[in-house]
Order: sequence, then structure tokens, then C-alpha cells
Amino acid sequence: MSTKLEQAVHALKEQIDAPVASFLSSCVHCGMCAEACLFHTETGDPKYTPIVKVEPLRRVWQQEFTFWGRLLKKLGLAKPITDEFLSKWEPLVYDSCTMCGRCSMVCPVGNDIAYMIRKTREGMAISGHVPDGLVGAATRAVNIGSPMGVKFPALQAQIGHVEEDYGFKVPVDVEGADYLCMLSSMEIMNFPEYIGAIAKIFDHAGISWTLSSKAFEATNSGVQIGVSDIATELVQRIVSEAERLKVKVVVSPECGHAYTAIRWEGPNLVGKKFGFKVRHILEVLDELRKDGRLKTEGMEESRLTYHDPCQIGRRGGVLEQPRNLINMVASDFVEMPDAGKMNWCCGAGGGVSTNERADEIRLKVFQRKKEQLEAVQAEGLVSACSNCRIHIEVGLEKYHMDVPVISLTETLAEHLVDKK
Ligand code: SF4
Ligand code: SF4
Repeated sequence: MSTKLEQAVHALKEQIDAPVASFLSSCVHCGMCAEACLFHTETGDPKYTPIVKVEPLRRVWQQEFTFWGRLLKKLGLAKPITDEFLSKWEPLVYDSCTMCGRCSMVCPVGNDIAYMIRKTREGMAISGHVPDGLVGAATRAVNIGSPMGVKFPALQAQIGHVEEDYGFKVPVDVEGADYLCMLSSMEIMNFPEYIGAIAKIFDHAGISWTLSSKAFEATNSGVQIGVSDIATELVQRIVSEAERLKVKVVVSPECGHAYTAIRWEGPNLVGKKFGFKVRHILEVLDELRKDGRLKTEGMEESRLTYHDPCQIGRRGGVLEQPRNLINMVASDFVEMPDAGKMNWCCGAGGGVSTNERADEIRLKVFQRKKEQLEAVQAEGLVSACSNCRIHIEVGLEKYHMDVPVISLTETLAEHLVDKK
């Protein structure tokens, strides 16, 4: 066994905690998770059954922690864990799982399969069975501070445009501000209007907030690739900056995985409770709405629907807030079938969008989103994740659908009552 393979088996063994052991031992092989996973429903291929994707983890658990598995291993009758086996599973673990958690919702024995995929990636990454795109993104995130290689001057340039457009100063590195707003590189490069939108909304609501020049990137390539050391380092950068600036709340941007990484995985990764709160931008905006600090005017008249990003809705519980906010500015809001906590993934989360090898399957499974949109004859799709947004735009183009994809934060900003 090569050293890398030994390390992978060791890493997988290390991932087998009490929940994983209980999940693996309680699977009744009912196959219900298959019907919940869009990679299975849209291809009909049984290899995309969610529980099948965690076979590397299951094999190690069986051979290291069960009586029969250990006996078979001793007798040389157990299925071996080899480089070929891990290579075969790599596309199942990375290309065809967005860690959307839909399968975890339907399992009759309560197995959190998405949690196990995350754990399986830890072993795959150590053995080098990782897509190149994710390796590149994680390397840039560690060395440059952004998976897309975006540095502060690029953000500074966008801030300059916002200041010119709106005529007020965008706060950067303000010590003692209440809110530290994080961004994703995709917003900085592809959707800079988002920066203008939060600046406009916070100015309107009289919020004390800041951006940081040292830690502005919220996405976490370490979580996506499955390397906890990288994930921890990236979370720690945000924690250190929040502590240095003494902010009360860190605001996760319109990005699903960033929210999961900092809010739910963050404290476990750095091994301490944060001294500040973490909120998704939609939670902050809904709080402002409740407090009467968001005054809007006019309504969108086209038929709008909402795509719940998996990490924000199903995994993060932010389901009511976007609906409260959309209803402030949309007169014809309709829900897609399966909207809310059982919404279908767009197909690009969990690092799948960073992985060029997954382009074909990602667009194939987009069929499901297409059907959801067709069912309600939507004239516009609102979302709150820049990663979903960019993939949905590509998917709509592929399927020749003319449906604009709109950011919820940006739409709200457009409807704000002019303070003057
Ligand atoms: S987490 Fe989502 S994409 Fe991954 S196996 Fe489960 S349903 Fe499929
Ligand atoms: S739904 Fe749960 S019990 Fe059924 S096969 Fe999938 S993981 Fe096993």
C-alpha cells in the first residue's frame, strides 16, 4: 500500500465518529435516498444513489470497526481499498454530489448522507483523488485569499464604482462597526451590483457596518475539497478579522456554502465559540424589515419565483426570511413545486461548479430546475446565492429559456424609498 493510500485509509478511519458509525450500521438499504438525489433522478443511473457515494467510508468502517468486516479482512476476503477503487469513486464523491442534503431529509432512519459525503472527501483529498479545479481553488484561497485569485485592489476598484454611483463612502476596516460584511469572489467579479446593494441598504437603514481589506472572502474551499486544515485556516482568517475589528455580527453574503462554512462548521473547525454572531445577509435584511428600517416602494409586476439555495434553506433554515422580503417588492410571487426545505439543488453547489470535469452532468441534472420553472411559468427567478445564480444562468441558456435570474438583495435595494 502506498503511503498516500495508507494516509487516506487512516484519514477515513479518523472520520468515523459516533454519528457516522450509527448511520452506516442503521442503513436498511431501502433506496429512498436515490429518489431524492437529482443526480439519480435525472440520469436513472443507480451509481448515483447517495449511500453508494460514501462506499469508501463504509468500506473502512466495515473493515476496521465491525466484527465480520475485521474477520473477513484478516482472512483476506474483504474488498480491498486500492487507488483504483478510490479513482473510480472520485467522480461520485465530487462531481455528482453538491452536499445539498436532500437525501438526508428522506432517509427513514435519519442518516445524514451529506455529512458522510463531507467526511468521505477528507480521505479522498489526502490520497490525491480530487478534481484539479478544486485543488486550484483551494490553493488560491490559501495563498491569495480567494478561490478565484481576487485580491483587495480588485475589490477596491468595485468599491470606487459604488462610491461614484451612490455618492457616499463605503466603510472599510472600521473598528467597532456592528456588522462585518463578507463577500464571495464571484460577487466581486461577476455581480459587483451586490456590493452597491448592501451599501445602499445599510446606508438607508442607518447601519454601522464595514468591509475588511484583510478578510473579505467568505467562501471556504477547504470545506468543499474536504481538507479540514484548510477549512480551519480560512475560517480563522474571518474570526481574527472580526475580533480585530471588534464587530458584533459577521454577515455571510449571497452564497450558500460560505454560510454553512462560517456559521455551522466554523466554531467546530476553530474549536471555540465565536465572540460574535454569524448571520446570512437575508437574516439581517429580514431583521431590518421587522424593525421597520427597510422602506420600499413599487412592486415588480412580472411573475417571480424563488430558488432556495440548499445551504441557506434546507441546511441553514433560512426559509421564511426570503419570502417575507420578496413579498415586499413582488406582486405576483409564486412558489415552485417542492419549494422550501425540499427544493431541488441547482446542481452546482459543493464545489461541483469549480470542477470542469462535472460540466456535462451538472447541466444534465439542471433539467429538474427547468421543470420546476416551467411548472409555474416564471418570468423571473430570484435567488440568494451567487454560485446558484451563475449556474442557473448557464443552465437556462443551455435549455433556451428566457428567464432573468435576480439577486434578492439587489432587488430590494432597487425598491428602497429614496431617503432624500
Ligand atoms: S447531498 Fe444532494 S447531491 Fe449529494 S447525494 Fe445527497 S441528494 Fe445527492
Ligand atoms: S434512505 Fe437511508 S436507509 Fe435507505 S438506503 Fe438511503 S441511507 Fe440507507
